[in-house]
Amino acid sequence: MTASHLGIYIWAIGVVAWFVIRFPYARKARRTATVRVHGWSRERILLTVAAIGLVVLPAVWLATGWPGALDYDLNYAAVVIGAVVYLASLWLFRRSHKDLGRQWSASLEIRESHQIVRGGVYRRIRHPMYASFWLWALAQAFLLPNAFAALSGLVAIAILFFTRIDFEERMLTEAFGEDYRTYMRETKRIIPGIY
Ligand code: SAH
Repeated sequence: MTASHLGIYIWAIGVVAWFVIRFPYARKARRTATVRVHGWSRERILLTVAAIGLVVLPAVWLATGWPGALDYDLNYAAVVIGAVVYLASLWLFRRSHKDLGRQWSASLEIRESHQIVRGGVYRRIRHPMYASFWLWALAQAFLLPNAFAALSGLVAIAILFFTRIDFEERMLTEAFGEDYRTYMRETKRIIPGIY
């Protein structure tokens, strides 16, 4: 098998694993009461953009071969790096779901008896789930042998992250006041100690 084919297989297995990890939490979340929804239509658009960049555009390239002019060959080193980053992403994705528990929602919401989570992977960064999305998009950039499909995930996550992050932190500051402000002072957003 060529390195390019291996990269594509690993990417596809990772996408399936992502949905398998999320499915039980998405099901539970439907039964968890919400007291406040923040920016519903903006959130729908952002989640759609993320899905397009991480899944739809690579699938279009896989199914149609378009844009073939941007194809290139991978080497095994890129595939190994991509696979390791993907594993790290899936691990962090699963852990952040576990640690966030019933406070999790796909869009910005405050749950009934919502509590600030500061333990587990939330101890040093405030947005481990978004960090896992960045890692997913980075893995995609290493694993897909086409510039368009490889980079679409990074562009989509940049749009989702930079549009949503201030709204999310403002929403949590409004809901939890000094508790969340203290937490913000003690942690970075996605890279421990740096950003
Ligand atoms: N930004 C976080 C969570 C993403 S899920 C991360 O990347 O890990 C989005 C929901 O998580 C939001 O609706 C918000 O209400 C909730 N949330 C975010 N940070 C939280 C925290 N530290 N404690 C409790 N809920 C949180």
